[in-house]
Amino acid sequence: MMSFIIADLSVIPEAVKPVYLTSRLGMQLPILATFFALTFLPVYQKIHDMVLCISLLLVCYANYWLIVQCWKIAEFSFSYEGTLLYGLFCMFIMRLSFKFSIIFVLFTIVGFALIIFSYPVYAGFGMVNLGFVSLGLLISLIGVKQIENAFGRFQQLNEKLVRLNQIDPLTGLYNRGALEQQFDLMLSVSNRIGTSISVFMIDLDNFKDFNDGHGHLRGDEVIQIQAEILRQVFNRETDTVARYGGEEFIVISLGINAQASEALAAEVLREWVRKKIKHGKGQGQDFVSCSIGLISTQVDKETQKKHLIDTADKALYAAKDKGRARFINADNLDIL
Ligand code: GH3
Ligand code: MG
Ligand code: MG
Repeated sequence: MMSFIIADLSVIPEAVKPVYLTSRLGMQLPILATFFALTFLPVYQKIHDMVLCISLLLVCYANYWLIVQCWKIAEFSFSYEGTLLYGLFCMFIMRLSFKFSIIFVLFTIVGFALIIFSYPVYAGFGMVNLGFVSLGLLISLIGVKQIENAFGRFQQLNEKLVRLNQIDPLTGLYNRGALEQQFDLMLSVSNRIGTSISVFMIDLDNFKDFNDGHGHLRGDEVIQIQAEILRQVFNRETDTVARYGGEEFIVISLGINAQASEALAAEVLREWVRKKIKHGKGQGQDFVSCSIGLISTQVDKETQKKHLIDTADKALYAAKDKGRARFINADNLDIL
């Protein structure tokens, strides 16, 4: 607007300078300042389109008022292109939505048509200019619609990619990256509300032998069954189940004590016993089973994710050492 003012003052006749300054500084500047102030409102994001559209229309009509005044005072044909520039700026740079762009375009064309039909401001070029403004704005509308569609598709695709990036394709569980994030979140929540956290590390027993004997595809099915069992046993809102890698899983559960954690670990082992899936390969056991290492602890701000995972891992390997198909609570590691 400052560049408009500098350029305009050098070409407009003396007689219209007062109305010019009234329109620019007395009307358009306060409208823009009000718009700017409104952008600081907490609810601004929600009302962006409406506020922008109304401000834009007010600025355009302040311009129209100026065109009419310049004609009335000095029969001076003040240029209309500035209105188009305002419109293009708001539609494309400030991303006025398609719906509000339609409202803006309709009101702008109607206002300009009223000037053209009421005053011979642009002499014989009146209709040409009206056509130019109308077509320019209508073409911009198509542009806004195309951009909006492309953005919408892009956003959907992006959301899908973010989701896919967090999910392990074989089991549909969180993958390791998502688990790390979720773990941080759960730690800070449990620290804030002062609750306990339980971490379970689960690993299928002699699974290399199972794969070698039954084939990788059957191995994949068993991994899916393990995922299903964990989903079933750890089914609360406060449980997070993830495939940590290969045939290793992690579960994080909030607000349950050691006793309840052990009961859940025992339930996982029981599910495998119930399923009776034949193993019998290599040095392996008769049926598929898993081992579990767990730690359950009260969270404070000293609690560290890495320490919890390492401890659950130690407990898991103690369970493997002790003969597999069992769980070990890290609390008992010292006495084992
Ligand atoms: P342990 O009881 O000590 O855990 O013995 P293990 O044979 O299970 O040893 P380990 O955990 O080191 O073996 C992991 C095996 O899991 C190796 C690999 O063949 C298998 N595995 C890892 N990821 C996959 C997978 O995505 N699909 C299949 N089918 N097998 C996998
Ligand atoms: Mg294993
Ligand atoms: Mg393993």
